[in-house]
Amino acid sequence: MEDCKIQIKGLKDGKHDFTFPLDEKFFETFDNSLILKAQLLSTVELEKSKDWMNLSFSINGTVDVPCDRCLDPVTLPVSCSDSLPLREIRSESDAFNTDIVAIEPGAEDVDLSQLFYDYVCINIPLVRVHPDGGCNEQMIEKLNQLCGNKKNSGRPEDAVEMIDSVDSPFAALKDLLNNKEK
Ligand SMILES: [Zn+2]
Repeated sequence: MEDCKIQIKGLKDGKHDFTFPLDEKFFETFDNSLILKAQLLSTVELEKSKDWMNLSFSINGTVDVPCDRCLDPVTLPVSCSDSLPLREIRSESDAFNTDIVAIEPGAEDVDLSQLFYDYVCINIPLVRVHPDGGCNEQMIEKLNQLCGNKKNSGRPEDAVEMIDSVDSPFAALKDLLNNKEK
């Protein structure tokens, strides 16, 4: 298990730098993660003052997720950064406040795993498909057959409607086939 903890007890005032590599083993510890592979580096600067702490971080690299068109892994870039105050939980709502990094009162360290996971997940590009021609043709063929079977099983006009209305993967498949005919 990857360790994304920073010791805060006894930390001197000033700026402290940390780096955390995040690979697929890191993401395996979270349920329902779509991330198949990861090559990410999280760079953290923790600034500590007498009365406050601030966490600045950036996460950069790539992740592999299933392609929305053919389901094979597709490599996508991830780049994000933020700056958040780090402070002890003072009220119940603090625990759910996403504008701070909350720590238990008197905690010796802070675990940044969930924070990193959340930032990576919301910063994966929304378009998750291979570049043109990069998809798994055999899988596309299987999806094509699936389309065909559904078309034969019911009324043809319903099948066409279904293919037009569904946004993925059938609409993407239709676009692909239309392009090939040209
Ligand atoms: Zn693909």
